[in-house]
Order: sequence, then structure tokens, then C-alpha cells
Amino acid sequence: EPGPTPEAVDAYLADTLVGEDQALREGKRAAAAAGLPAIEVSPGQGKLLMMLARLAGARRILEIGTLGGYSTTWLAQALPPDGELVTCEFEPRHARVARANLDAAGVGGLVTIRPGAALETLARLRAEGAAPFDLAFIDADKENSANYVSAALELVRPGGLIVLDNVVRRGTVLRPGDPDTVEGRDVNGTRAALELLGSDPRVDATAVQTTGAKGWDGFALAVVRG
Ligand code: SAM
Repeated sequence: EPGPTPEAVDAYLADTLVGEDQALREGKRAAAAAGLPAIEVSPGQGKLLMMLARLAGARRILEIGTLGGYSTTWLAQALPPDGELVTCEFEPRHARVARANLDAAGVGGLVTIRPGAALETLARLRAEGAAPFDLAFIDADKENSANYVSAALELVRPGGLIVLDNVVRRGTVLRPGDPDTVEGRDVNGTRAALELLGSDPRVDATAVQTTGAKGWDGFALAVVRG
């Protein structure tokens, strides 16, 4: 029998603790059938997001990067019936799959999908005077992560939480990336976002390295100061 691996332990923990429901599993199947990449958060991470949203007493959640709506569904499950989750997605096909998945999971009425480039959507939300968000989950094109963190700092209320995904990137975050490659630009965007979170007086920030179904990676967490 092969020895334990982080992936096997993740599966054990997910089976034992997480209770990923039928709708979430169906949503992933539908996303795969539609040809979307399987780059959503793991079940354990999705549940962590839901629990953080609940702890934050979230009534308004901002998500950047919807894909097929997997993390969106977890987060929306933390909302009260009059809550709202605004999620930004660039790819119309992803947004269509997400809409169907969110409706099938019974949380569609809580979620507004804002199509288009997130930077433009975030500028529009600010211009519209959107009510403050209690939690922002940033998980889109990593090249722009620092810009998304900047926007989130304006849009999230004091005491609210900003979560930034994929901050370790199998350790590649340790050194500046090659700006001529996508991964290099993603590393540089991630480093800029971490440096902003580490130096901006408006937040207290930390990061947690993770391993498991998604390989060696991590989340940064930042609470906006009151
Ligand atoms: N949060 C999702 C989950 O865990 O289920 C996964 C999101 S996936 C890692 C990143 C998503 O961001 C993709 O669907 C991609 O199309 C979207 N995206 C990439 N660039 C974007 C942009 N400039 N504006 C909005 N969305 C973008």
C-alpha cells in the first residue's frame, strides 16, 4: 500500500469533516462537462471560506473570479436571506455555467454575477457608491492581485476580511518572476499584493501555507482595521 500523501489526507479530512453537498459536487461535474478548468478551491477551503464569512457576520460578500461558482456557492451559504454576494467574472461561458450552478444549488437569488474585467467592475462599484462589503475573496488573474487588494481596501468595511488565494504557488512566490511569462507575471502580482498587505496601515495581515488536493499553496488573510 502506498504511504500517506497530502492529497490522501485532504480526501480523508474532506470525507470526515467537510460534508460537501450534492449541489456542490454536481456543480463541479457540470463545470467539467462544459470544459471549465478544475481550478476551484478544495472542499476544505470552500468550507473555510463559508465559516470565515459566518464569523464575519457577512451580509455582503465580494468575490473576484467566479469560474463555475464553486467557491461562490460555499460563500453564499453563509449569507442571511437578505444578503448579497457580488462576483466578478471575465469569461461569459464561466458566468453562464456559474449562474446555472448557483440556481441549482438554491443560492442563485443571493448572487449577482458582474460580467467583464474585474478591475472595471470594481471601479464601477466604487463609482456607484456600493454599500460596504463584509468579506472579499480574491481569486482571479493573479497578475492583477495587488490592484484587486487596493480596490478591496476601499470596498470592505472596517473589521471586514480580505482573503487572497494562491499566494505560495509551490514556493515560486519566493523570488520575482520572469515578466515575459504568465506564471512570472502571476508571481509578481502575488508578491505585489502581499507587499501591499504587509505594509498598508489599513490592515492586519497574515498568510497560511497549505498542501493537499491543490498542491503546495496558501491563503493570505487580512482584516481591515477599525
Ligand atoms: N473562485 C473560483 C472557485 O474557487 O470556485 C475559482 C476562480 S478561477 C481560479 C479564476 C477565474 O477568474 C476564472 O474563471 C477566470 O475566467 C476569471 N478571471 C480571469 N481574469 C479575470 C478578470 N480580469 N476579471 C474577472 N475575472 C477574471
